[in-house]
Amino acid sequence: MKVLVIGGGGREHALVWKIAQSPLVTRVYCAPGNPGIGEIAENVPLAVDDLVGLLDFARTHDIDLTVVGPELPLSLGIVDLFEEYGLTIFGARRNAAIIEASKAFSKDLMKKYQVPTAAYGVFEEVAPAVAFIDQVGVPIVIKADGLAAGKGVIIAQSREEAVATVQDMLTGNAFGSAGSRVVIEEFLVGEEASFLAFTDGKAIIPLASAQDHKAVFDGDKGPNTGGMGAYSPAPVVTQAIHDKVMVEVMRRTVDGMAAEGRPYRGVLYAGLMINGDEVKVLEFNARFGDPECQPLLMRLKSDIVPVLLSVAKGDLGGIALEWHDKAAVCVVMAAGGYPADYRKGDPIRGLDEAAALEELFVFHAGTTRRDGEVVTAGGRVLGVTALGRTVREAIDRAYQGVGAIDWEGVHYRKDIGAKALAKS
Ligand code: ATP
Repeated sequence: MKVLVIGGGGREHALVWKIAQSPLVTRVYCAPGNPGIGEIAENVPLAVDDLVGLLDFARTHDIDLTVVGPELPLSLGIVDLFEEYGLTIFGARRNAAIIEASKAFSKDLMKKYQVPTAAYGVFEEVAPAVAFIDQVGVPIVIKADGLAAGKGVIIAQSREEAVATVQDMLTGNAFGSAGSRVVIEEFLVGEEASFLAFTDGKAIIPLASAQDHKAVFDGDKGPNTGGMGAYSPAPVVTQAIHDKVMVEVMRRTVDGMAAEGRPYRGVLYAGLMINGDEVKVLEFNARFGDPECQPLLMRLKSDIVPVLLSVAKGDLGGIALEWHDKAAVCVVMAAGGYPADYRKGDPIRGLDEAAALEELFVFHAGTTRRDGEVVTAGGRVLGVTALGRTVREAIDRAYQGVGAIDWEGVHYRKDIGAKALAKS
């Protein structure tokens, strides 16, 4: 069968890498893809928001399964469009992808269906927002309602900062239409984890646990990024926490979405805050996490294609996932300046040396080809991902790969996986 993957980052490279290993698959295309993806699939020069172009490509190339990576095409309704034309596509429909596209929607859903989450308010006017800030106190978390690529969340340490942020979002133009409504919520303490599950709207099949590292610097310092590294499994997700999340988060959310007339099909990602035996949901995403996708798919033993197909067809019954016992660690190598304005066009050295290492794969995220050489083209450039019998081994191997690669201005965290080590 022929598969089309939509996207061009590390997550999509991991999806293409895994899908291409399936004996069911004869050909993989990726739109727009990237140079790394181009080594194992055919890149198609179509943007992720060119819904009509993608539909046309899928129809003219007899694509049997389309897999959507990023949130943007989901929230634009690509799944609805493909389904209208009778095509098989993996991802959430537009009216379900809203669980990520609107934080106000997802908070209201959680409240209605008793999914544990931080206390919150939704505001469109400054005065009631300030009154809420005064009632809750600081630190307090202020979130632009819409999609803001991980940059729409401010943790205000003082009342002044909180008020200024709200004013900026609601009356300024800091976040465009994404900031015309804000969610303000109680600050939670604990350790974060990512919990992903496949669902056809009824059955729920959890993936292995994972943990992202959102802050740019070691020790979780500095501004948030799209994610500087991830590992799986995450020891903070104990069996008891896992069971609780399946019942109180996944089951209630999937049933709640169905009851709202928004049946959820695809992969549901819950960002969790875990404090002792207490779990609260920070956010939902309607897609695989990036970079969590890289270590998760390296650990997945089962063929992913029958799973994606079953979800897309709405019948997950009978599917079980098998995982390698090994741990996986992904270290993101970023461009100089990221997550603020960053350098582009720097030639990347050492990709071949890293590729020669065993049980390691270099997933491309922000790269492009210029005059035959691979150069940086995005903030997060590579996700160097390795397996190991222990977390320690996976960490050492991933950093060995990172050590082989270099470019002008590169930076990365040196402590990916440290929290898992501390618990092992
Ligand atoms: P992403 O890019 O991961 O989708 P996002 O913009 O959707 O992020 P959230 O996941 O809601 O935003 O928040 C980003 C980060 O801010 C969280 O990972 C967490 O570190 C922090 N955060 C969010 N809400 C809270 C909270 N209530 N208490 C403490 N920290 C929080």
